[in-house]
Amino acid sequence: MLEVKNIQARHGLLQAVRGVSFSVAKGEVLGVIGANGAGKTTLFRAITGVHADMTGSVLLNGEDISALRPAKRVAKGLAMVPEGRRLFPDMSVRENLQVAGEHGRRGDWTLATVLDALPALKPILRSLAGNLSGGQRQAVAIGRALMTNPDFVIMDEVSLGLSPIAIEGLYESLGQLKASGKTGIVVVEQDLRRAMAFSDRIVCMLEGTITLEGASGTLTHDDITNAYFGLEPEAHERSAAHA
Ligand code: ATP
Repeated sequence: MLEVKNIQARHGLLQAVRGVSFSVAKGEVLGVIGANGAGKTTLFRAITGVHADMTGSVLLNGEDISALRPAKRVAKGLAMVPEGRRLFPDMSVRENLQVAGEHGRRGDWTLATVLDALPALKPILRSLAGNLSGGQRQAVAIGRALMTNPDFVIMDEVSLGLSPIAIEGLYESLGQLKASGKTGIVVVEQDLRRAMAFSDRIVCMLEGTITLEGASGTLTHDDITNAYFGLEPEAHERSAAHA
């Protein structure tokens, strides 16, 4: 179980995250949605230990890891696929994956099993990461996270900037990862329909807080749009009636 409790995070005077709590079980997918600036990236950077100006606690399988440095959190089983992918551009795909493997835990995910789960990586193993397309870089970033054998992986804006075909391929691979049941996934996805289809549960963030949480199957598109834009349900219905 990954549990975050009352996370608050600031950028100087700006409080970007205002008391966020949620939990994710192993094998579960939590979709996080919210407009630009809602605080998602800051929240994830706080959870993984990269953003230091924060309070609140992060528990991984019952252990409080809030005081640990980012690399120690990875070693405990918490990985992040950051927005923008952040690969080593002058290293090959194979080297990017291997470096991650050396800094993570031992487990079922090895170069061979990652290549089975993400077959698009096979033909580009020797390519320099800096020369790849957006979809290929995203696949490498996910492979790199898996190489650390995480119990939980947080993926920020997973399909940002990818072509529709690349997004299809990516979600096919993520579907296999989900089906393996080995890993809990927290995924930020701007495409609401896709987020609802892929996630077991959804949380919606607005201005640093969670405005909606529920099982994907129980939330309507209107519930989500209201939470996303901060509309009162009646106001949304009124504006829909006027449209
Ligand atoms: P996006 O999808 O655009 O990345 P987000 O939901 O991830 O949005 P954050 O990037 O966490 O949101 O931003 C939350 C708030 O913090 C915003 O008001 C943003 O302007 C501010 N912010 C983010 N990064 C910084 C920074 N490095 N310095 C100052 N303010 C920042």
